Amino acid sequence: MRIYKEFFFDAAHFLPYAEDGHPNRRMHGHSFRVVVWLEGKPAPETGLLRHFEDVERELLRVREKLDHRLLNEIEGLEQPTLERIAAWIWRDLEPALPEIACVEIHRASCREGCVYDGPEKV
Ligand SMILES: [Zn+2]
Repeated sequence: MRIYKEFFFDAAHFLPYAEDGHPNRRMHGHSFRVVVWLEGKPAPETGLLRHFEDVERELLRVREKLDHRLLNEIEGLEQPTLERIAAWIWRDLEPALPEIACVEIHRASCREGCVYDGPEKV
């Protein structure tokens, strides 16, 4: 069984390795929607896989590190592609949410996104 919770953040970035003259090389911003999926069995006593309050607390913690930041300045996000951001969010959440099963990141204004199923399934 899987449950999910979403969060949103706005951030700036640029892609230093984009071709010369490519717009992605210039600093610009996006609104991102992130969906974090957890997988497991609900506890028999509570019927819950995980309290959503626990999930929300962790998502707010990771959101605080990303929101209204220049992503390139964050350690591990020097090349802040969707793929790298998804994997970075996974690594940040996994210690507190070991049931993590998937991180989706959506950049709605570009109609594009990335789904990361974890380090074993890149
Ligand atoms: Zn961009």
